Amino acid sequence: MRNMEWADDEVRELKASGTFVELNVLAGPQKPREIVNGREVINLCSNNYLGLTTHPRMREAALAALNEFGVGTGSVRAISGTMTLHVQLEDRLARFKHTEASLVFQSGFACNSGIIPVLAAEGDVIITDQLNHASIIDGIRLTKADRKIFPHADMDALEEALRASQGARRRLVVTDGVFSMDGDIAKLPEIVGLAEKYGAMVYVDDAHSSGVLGANGRGSVNHFGLDGRVQVQVGTLSKAIGVLGGYVASTQGLRDLLINRGRPFIFSTSHPPAVTAACIAAIDVLESEPELIEKLWDNTKYFKTRIRDMGFDTGASETPITPVIAGESHKAMELSRILFREGVFAPGIVFPTVAADKARVRTIVTAAHSKQDLDEALAAFQKAGEELGLIGARVPV
Ligand code: PMP
Repeated sequence: MRNMEWADDEVRELKASGTFVELNVLAGPQKPREIVNGREVINLCSNNYLGLTTHPRMREAALAALNEFGVGTGSVRAISGTMTLHVQLEDRLARFKHTEASLVFQSGFACNSGIIPVLAAEGDVIITDQLNHASIIDGIRLTKADRKIFPHADMDALEEALRASQGARRRLVVTDGVFSMDGDIAKLPEIVGLAEKYGAMVYVDDAHSSGVLGANGRGSVNHFGLDGRVQVQVGTLSKAIGVLGGYVASTQGLRDLLINRGRPFIFSTSHPPAVTAACIAAIDVLESEPELIEKLWDNTKYFKTRIRDMGFDTGASETPITPVIAGESHKAMELSRILFREGVFAPGIVFPTVAADKARVRTIVTAAHSKQDLDEALAAFQKAGEELGLIGARVPV
């Protein structure tokens, strides 16, 4: 179309630089084995940690809510889009997280981009880990607060930033609970200790820890026994919870303030009843089926040990996120291509999402994978790793 040629030019540039992303299309539900781009593969790249996207109790709850309340809410939360279901979900989340109150946003992204600007403004300082998620970066960009980015997990640099910002009105330390590209866990006990020493607030994004770490999947704060010492916990309902949305668990005062000042919350329509009811049912599942989390960790240990034993570089991962680091971008893309040929779906992740020399295939195993799924996936990695010279050939015994 006339005057839109610039978009085609930019796409051509992306393709030439090898960083162009195309969508992979699933021909069915999100499951460990599925049809992707017309081919049956083992999925090793979803955030469906507990397999809840197809859980029968959650489907039933969604269908019942659909029949009772309809398909949409017809309004933003702050006008007439708050239904009893939304309030029930928030009460359940607050109790689950051992906090005073909770508030649900449309997504985890909407949480970070909407909450951070309410917590810090001109005269305040935000101290943020270099590897924090894009939505945190965008949330920080929306504030007029000063920002200090510390090298990943560097506690000396964090302390220095806290020491140097003592005159600020408010200070906010922001960290992912589990880092999404590397799978390492934030050093929360040290972060909280330092924040307490210098009188700063701590904000933890538990997108990849909700449903994964802590008792019944309560998250990284609970995992470290820090309940009551982290001012703001954000989580998603879109990963281990299997549905869609984000929430903040904090004080009643912050909830009230966010209802009045959280722009995505105020200006965007609320979740459909089926989504909200499925999330409530997910909390029931977390509370009554702890074996799902045990299975997730059992599968994680099984896969991680074997992939490391093969000789792959898996970085500092401690959680179900296992990066398989290939080096330069083209190597990671090639690894992903060979894996797909061998029946495993795990896209390459390249610069600028990760460092240029640390391009990788990021794998996430789930509770829903069988040992056979994992064994087949491991065989594909062995083959791809040998073909690309990332690991030595297996010596026959
Ligand atoms: N925070 C982190 C650390 C994430 O990995 C993600 C998801 N990519 C989000 C926030 C955004 O969550 P959602 O998908 O619910 O918007």
